[in-house]
Amino acid sequence: MRKINKILLFLFVVFCNNIFADKANLKNVIIISVDTLRADHLSCYGYPIKTSPAIDDLSRDGVRFSRCFTITPLTSPGFATMLTSLPPYKHGSKRNGLPIFKHIRTLPHFLKKYNYCSSAFISNWPLRENLSGLHQDFDSYYEVFNKKRWFGLLNSEGNAKEVTKRAIKWLEDHHKKRIFLWVHLSEPHAPYVSHKKFDFDIKKIDLSYYPPRTRFSKIKKYDSEIAFTDFYIGKLIEKIKELGLYHDSLIVFNSDHGESFGEHNYFKHGRKLYNSCLHVPLIIKLPGNCLKNSTRDENASILDLSPTILSILKLQIPEHMEGLALFDKRVKLREAIYFEAYRGAVITERSKKFHLNVHPRKFAILQGSTKLIYTYGTKRIEAYRIKKDWFELRDLYKENPKEYYNLKILLMKHIKKVEKYIQHSKRYLKKRSSLSKEDIEKLKTLGYIH
Ligand SMILES: [Zn+2]
Repeated sequence: MRKINKILLFLFVVFCNNIFADKANLKNVIIISVDTLRADHLSCYGYPIKTSPAIDDLSRDGVRFSRCFTITPLTSPGFATMLTSLPPYKHGSKRNGLPIFKHIRTLPHFLKKYNYCSSAFISNWPLRENLSGLHQDFDSYYEVFNKKRWFGLLNSEGNAKEVTKRAIKWLEDHHKKRIFLWVHLSEPHAPYVSHKKFDFDIKKIDLSYYPPRTRFSKIKKYDSEIAFTDFYIGKLIEKIKELGLYHDSLIVFNSDHGESFGEHNYFKHGRKLYNSCLHVPLIIKLPGNCLKNSTRDENASILDLSPTILSILKLQIPEHMEGLALFDKRVKLREAIYFEAYRGAVITERSKKFHLNVHPRKFAILQGSTKLIYTYGTKRIEAYRIKKDWFELRDLYKENPKEYYNLKILLMKHIKKVEKYIQHSKRYLKKRSSLSKEDIEKLKTLGYIH
């Protein structure tokens, strides 16, 4: 019996290796993103309520990353990072309402060369074509805004039922082609509403699961929104299976940022760099369900999505992409993950001058389980050991700043680099001819010139 197990394991390993070795292995790629989704509110991430049966099923067929973080907790900047593998200060979508710079290319551009037919279904206003600029490399980019919020006055979002219905129709029409599909769902974004069919009794949960100062009335509705969304994700996956696409497809499930429910006296997301807003789910179902039902616990970033997808398809990763391919051994050598936060969520000023002058207000660095946060203006530094203190309740920097000296130096170097880059890009974007040949070459490797 043991011998049979060994043979099966050997065949499994050979099969998995082939997944990454076969050059002709251009499988379909489907990204399902749920906006504003905290990883710790999904049952497959240990949440005590069964909020996510369909996502749990997907997780059983894939690889679950327990510690994935967004880079900045906002919609357009976050998804732009997902599709460019660049931080916001480089791709340009630094706040909702600021599109990526026109010369920045996104994932569908690199897939197009291999005859991928690409489509996106988005359901949140900041992702509109003119606001995010994320449409430019997709063959089709559908904006679904059928949901009436605020007493029916605003329809700035799409309903999961409608978004999945339209994505399913697209799949039926295009499934014979090689496809790249991005489906974006918005329900857990505030204002949250309860769905009758998905109403949970959160009082039954051990309250120590939640950080102090949590506003439970909001969480109850938030969980209901997650379960509602999950129901339609189930429908979408059902269709993918029915069309015979599931087993061979590469399916990624993720979010752009989390949500704060009163922790650190903060609600919603955008301006703070605590785990409540940075920690996001990431599930990767590989072609052939390879490595199914496994968990990876190292730090991963939303920056890693595009290079990871390209590497699984055995395609070249453009040099300027900053993320790591998560199934490449080098990922273990990552020095640190950097984060940035900007002022406010939505802006009205969109002139080029303004665009170029948007600077981060906060920075953070995560190395292993140690995290530092730096705030401009006050120059405050906070330090947390997130393995022991996931909710970041005890600021250790006050107690022993010397212990964090090396990490502080790394963070300060990074901040200088960002400031220099922003200054540099101002020169380039204002007057291209003022750049030296070397400047242009350097910017090329960073994704600025194609
Ligand atoms: Zn968002």
